[in-house]
Amino acid sequence: MRPIRPGDRGPAVTEIRTVLTGLELLPPAIGDEFDVATERAVRAFQQSRGLSVDGRVGAETWRALDAARWRLGARTLYHAVPEPFTGEDVRSLQERLLEMGYDVGHADAIYGVRTARAVAQFQREVGLKPDGSCGPHTMGALRRLGRKVVGGRPQWLRESDAIRQSGPTLVGRTVVIDPGHGGTDPGVVVPDGPLRWCEADLVHDLASRLEGRLAAAGVRVQLTRGPTPATCLPDTDRAQLANSLGADVFISLHTDGHANPEADGVATYHYGTDNGVTSATGERLAGLVQREIVARTGLRDCRTHAKAWDLLRLTRMPAVRVEVGYLTSPRDRNRLVDPRFRDKVVEAIVAAVQRMFFPIERDVPTGSIDVSELRKVVAAGAVMD
Ligand SMILES: [Zn+2]
Repeated sequence: MRPIRPGDRGPAVTEIRTVLTGLELLPPAIGDEFDVATERAVRAFQQSRGLSVDGRVGAETWRALDAARWRLGARTLYHAVPEPFTGEDVRSLQERLLEMGYDVGHADAIYGVRTARAVAQFQREVGLKPDGSCGPHTMGALRRLGRKVVGGRPQWLRESDAIRQSGPTLVGRTVVIDPGHGGTDPGVVVPDGPLRWCEADLVHDLASRLEGRLAAAGVRVQLTRGPTPATCLPDTDRAQLANSLGADVFISLHTDGHANPEADGVATYHYGTDNGVTSATGERLAGLVQREIVARTGLRDCRTHAKAWDLLRLTRMPAVRVEVGYLTSPRDRNRLVDPRFRDKVVEAIVAAVQRMFFPIERDVPTGSIDVSELRKVVAAGAVMD
């Protein structure tokens, strides 16, 4: 769908304005024009949801706006199959349950099995029938408990526990590598004399190098696409694939682009929203990937950022998206087209994945892991401990 943008008019714009007014981002007024105030409200909304802030309503922003209509308590929620409930009310419920220490995974605004199970557990503990649905009685119980019970970001603790319990070895882990774009979508394309540098091709090359290195360290690796897929897989399908494989770690690879050739550097994204809801292990993986790449390649540090993109929101394991340099920056591009440089990037990511499975108190300094050692350990049949 073509994004709805400033200057547009019509019923879709009225619809958008109504939702934004309901969220108190736009003063109540009749109108069907996407005016300056609407654009400002859309930007504020996108920022609050961790979406890309462009002031336009594309598919992802539209879905978020549609879901934002629902206030907790306005409808009875349950685990519906095959079309689960999604919306702001589900997210509020999940955040409330997380605060109280129930395991719903990410607050992803989808009423899935895990949310239903957490609701049932809550119901059992407060003496209600544990049917896993959230109707007036359960809402009443939640309201009575208010915000008295706070477990201190339990979703952080649970994810780190799962990682810790699985031990420090890489052998037998599953890593899903997601080369961005592909098929009809080449990503960032930069002509260079008779040549043409294309993000989709470069990140696929990075992904296959990474696949080789991780496989040599005993990791089960799966790529989300081949070098020349017929179509471009949507982010929701990429996340689905990682979930269905039960991946331990998900890494999406991209290069960035900007009209200004001066823009350069590496940035890493993990799941999170401005309400402070975040994936702790995703944040940690992003920090490790970012620091290792900066230390080993010298790319400019454009830092880590929390985003609620579908790809990061729907994946159930620590997930990051790395923008490895700007293809539009002559400086970054000269390095990216050099296979030896790409190997350094790959080594940095392998080191970050390895550190992800060290207990925090046994973590090592950035840049200190000799990636070739990992292979020897596997060859010797030893399990790192
Ligand atoms: Zn990209």
